[in-house]
Amino acid sequence: TDFGFERVALAEKQARVDDVFRSVAKRYDLMNDLMSGGLHRAWKAQAIAMLRPSRTRPFRHLDVAGGTGDVAFRVLEAGGPQTSVTVLDINEAMLRVGAERAGARFDGRIDFVTGNAETLPLPDATFDAYTIAFGIRNVPRIELALQEARRVLKPGGRFLCLEFSKVDLPVLDKIYDAYSFHVIPRLGARVAGDAESYRYLVESIRKFPSPGLFAGMIEQAGFRHVTHRPLSGGIVAIHSGWKV
Ligand code: SAM
Repeated sequence: TDFGFERVALAEKQARVDDVFRSVAKRYDLMNDLMSGGLHRAWKAQAIAMLRPSRTRPFRHLDVAGGTGDVAFRVLEAGGPQTSVTVLDINEAMLRVGAERAGARFDGRIDFVTGNAETLPLPDATFDAYTIAFGIRNVPRIELALQEARRVLKPGGRFLCLEFSKVDLPVLDKIYDAYSFHVIPRLGARVAGDAESYRYLVESIRKFPSPGLFAGMIEQAGFRHVTHRPLSGGIVAIHSGWKV
């Protein structure tokens, strides 16, 4: 009996996240390039290289917290004519930018769904793979998102998560801290007119569980062969698991 306090706190967290992304949607892609010095492209490319969508067989992919479609476009480009992707995000402003960017490029092989990672409005055992890139740390109840991921995957399906992690190199960690706390909010203020949102994002990265702990949560949700791999000195990590 938590008298509903916890429920309110969770709803507040999600509302805060929604404000952030509504406010940055239009400038999101530009900000991503500026803040990561273009590195997010290499990180996403790494995740797609691990995923290797089939070029010859049907491949149904779900990209959760898919925002403006970046990961989805890459999956479609790497896959074959029978690859299709559902982009799901809680924020319509982000999805609208995504749909605009997609245009007519992928003729019907991409669709955009508004929904919450904690309660996916999608049937069981539907997808060959599930990705979530820089999204899971925004989800208030990570355990629920992981359970839902497992539910919508087919047996044999792959879970891949790309997320900011813990920098584990001596000098890089100092540089990274200075960059996160000073440069990013300033960039946010100048380019997106919103320092507060970017301060929030930096904090959410700090609060996210360590890679070992997060791997344990993925196992708890029932995934097997769980692995994680740091990229760029641990600035980000790719976690992988299988539904067997
Ligand atoms: N995956 C994209 C990328 O890598 O460029 C977008 C990442 S963006 C940092 C985080 C996204 O998570 C936002 O678009 C936000 O709306 C979405 N999001 C936040 N909470 C969510 C939730 N509970 N369910 C689904 N999406 C959520």
